[in-house]
Amino acid sequence: MTIRNDISEIVLSEEEINKINQRLGEQITKDYEGKTPIMVGLLKGSIMFMADLIKYVDTHMEMDFMDVSSYVGTKSTGEVKILKDLSTSVEGRHVLIVEDIVETGTTLNSIIKFLEYRKVASIEIVTLLDKPVEERKLNVDVKYIGTEIPDGFVVGYGLDFDQKYRNLPYIGLLKPEFYS
Ligand code: 5GP
Ligand code: MG
Ligand code: MG
Repeated sequence: MTIRNDISEIVLSEEEINKINQRLGEQITKDYEGKTPIMVGLLKGSIMFMADLIKYVDTHMEMDFMDVSSYVGTKSTGEVKILKDLSTSVEGRHVLIVEDIVETGTTLNSIIKFLEYRKVASIEIVTLLDKPVEERKLNVDVKYIGTEIPDGFVVGYGLDFDQKYRNLPYIGLLKPEFYS
């Protein structure tokens, strides 16, 4: 059985994702013209999105990555543990965080605080998916949003369930029998 049989619905096809990337890339190009931003991909979910998005960014940019994880049991405090830090200094730089999906904003909120402490010139977020939830109490300001998606657990195009499904070329809804 192929892994595609685990998917009940295609939420975003490859074509739809490509259109989103083009639109976001053009917006970023315009906003960062002459600024050479550092685009910081949050591992591992953002890798496919970042790789495709930057093809549409037509101004100089640099790439870096961070890997963070939420402390188990302290979700509400929004504390994250840094598993992999940046390899570049971001002081005085324009940072654009690349995220796969924003749900409560907990993860992003901690990363923003952490980067502001390092005296960045500016910090913005681009996310492919925005899953508006009631628990979005932290109010992170996401400047670039690919698209909103309804509640439900999505995988593919970098997003995982239990580290799997990241290799799907589209965003799909995982059948509940595979995660419950
Ligand atoms: P937040 O801190 O915004 O609540 O959590 C966002 C993180 O939760 C994402 O970076 C992602 O790792 C995970 N997440 C939230 N919703 C989904 C989903 O529908 N599918 C997958 N694969 N991950 C999700
Ligand atoms: Mg993520
Ligand atoms: Mg995950």
